[in-house]
Amino acid sequence: METPESIVARLVSLTAELGDPRNDYAILGEGNTSARIDGESFYVKASGAEMRSADASSFTRVSFRKILAFLDGGPATDDGVGKALLDAKLDAGSNSKKPSVETFIHAIALTLGRAAFVGHTHPVAVNAVLCSAKAREAFGGRLFPDEIVVCGPAYAFVPYTDPGLPLAIKVRGAIEDHLRAHGEPPRVILMQNHGMIALGSSPGQVLMITAMMVKTARIIAGAYAMGGPAFLAVESVNRIHTRPDELHRRKVLADKG
Ligand SMILES: [Zn+2]
Repeated sequence: METPESIVARLVSLTAELGDPRNDYAILGEGNTSARIDGESFYVKASGAEMRSADASSFTRVSFRKILAFLDGGPATDDGVGKALLDAKLDAGSNSKKPSVETFIHAIALTLGRAAFVGHTHPVAVNAVLCSAKAREAFGGRLFPDEIVVCGPAYAFVPYTDPGLPLAIKVRGAIEDHLRAHGEPPRVILMQNHGMIALGSSPGQVLMITAMMVKTARIIAGAYAMGGPAFLAVESVNRIHTRPDELHRRKVLADKG
């Protein structure tokens, strides 16, 4: 039985792994992570905390209801957003940290996106593509079977948007579009000129998705150096995505984390 303490312990090790400098996913205060505790609340990284040195005090417990209600409240000032983030805290008595400005995105990923753990990073290899003139085209098709098994049949792509509330509203729209088109939430959300979000059922799945996206981005860069990517046909992508042996492989991988 998971307790808030066991969930935060798993979140701490996920965050430290994503922030390991050898991975090149995030430096300094970049990136953030979250985990669902129950139907009412989730843990999210505090603003400015470093991923590589994360411990339990790097996270704060936040109310889904308050964060999601603020998202529906229309335009807000920077001050209003800051107050809403502090007001949504459920551990204000024992923890003075301010939730990350990306808390709104995490709340959406953990509800509409059906994730249990979420990792947002700025991997150099992924951002090289996301910051290029070909960003949308480059992530518009799938290139190899393992990419599909781990990262899904399509990515949700969000054009560059001001981080915080405006970006969260765009991310919500991208997840809704993906649900309509594919009948399931995306495992990866790509934010142009910014970074990626991995939506996982476990910390292990978030790590696998992030690692596979980095590999995919490196392959994309190589493919553009060799005349451009040869994307797989839609039928081939759907075949891999629904093959019984690949479904089994995906389940084995997911259970590992
Ligand atoms: Zn970011």
